[in-house]
Amino acid sequence: MGRLSTIKTFSSRFSNNDYHYIVCNVCGSGSAKTYLQAKEYLYVKCRICGLIYQNPQPVLKDIENRYNGDYFRYEYTNEDNFFNLMLLGLKDVGLNPAKLKRWKPKLFLDIGCATGKLLFYMKELGWQVQGVEICKESAEYGMKKRKVPIFPGTLDQAQFAEESFSLIHFSHLIEHVADPRALLQEVRRILKPDGMAVITTPNSHGFQARLLKTHWRSAIADHLFLFSKKTLSRLLESMQFKIHNIVTWGGLAKGLAPPVIKRPVDYLAKKMGFGDVMLFLVSKQ
Ligand SMILES: [Zn+2]
Repeated sequence: MGRLSTIKTFSSRFSNNDYHYIVCNVCGSGSAKTYLQAKEYLYVKCRICGLIYQNPQPVLKDIENRYNGDYFRYEYTNEDNFFNLMLLGLKDVGLNPAKLKRWKPKLFLDIGCATGKLLFYMKELGWQVQGVEICKESAEYGMKKRKVPIFPGTLDQAQFAEESFSLIHFSHLIEHVADPRALLQEVRRILKPDGMAVITTPNSHGFQARLLKTHWRSAIADHLFLFSKKTLSRLLESMQFKIHNIVTWGGLAKGLAPPVIKRPVDYLAKKMGFGDVMLFLVSKQ
């Protein structure tokens, strides 16, 4: 079965009509052209660096209000799927259980940790773990059920000390935040000098994105930014992150084609880097 095929997207329109305009988060340019327009959003593409982003954007309060009890139910229902995908992604860049057991020191942060399933897994491998989760219901559930520490709120609010973590993971988070550059800045601050960060996000230059346009599963109101390998690389490099590895996966969503076509397309998508989701393994330079 395809690695992404069983996951439904969670999205609807932001309820409030309070929006504001921003400049490109990667290069600072204000010059952009319409890229995709649907009822729920308008994506523009930066004329200078090619970043795709919603403009105008919902205000912060509206973004925060999105991650409520409904979002918890979505995370809860999909937690096994999400967890399995995260493990496969980690394995793709060599972070298998054996390597994770050997890692020193073992100080793990999962930003946007949802119900804490990955935190629990890392804890079992001997790591001291910490989660951050904006959806309070998810954070409470994770703490209660899995006995792992989860800060209920944003990374900024958590105020971790400098160089607190040796491995920082954030999967399907950076496309949701209002200021990806500020998020990465904070990740830099709290990452140990020889620590690593793992970033997973949809690939706007993937096969499905190009084929499906507004029907692509990741072209949704919740995704304020749609990165490609090029635009995320540029953002990371502009902040002196070193990129160690980039992998992509997922060629065709289930139902788009019969298995006899889907399997080779999935294989090629991964091999050639036009998969639906991409994972970056980075460190400070
Ligand atoms: Zn730009």
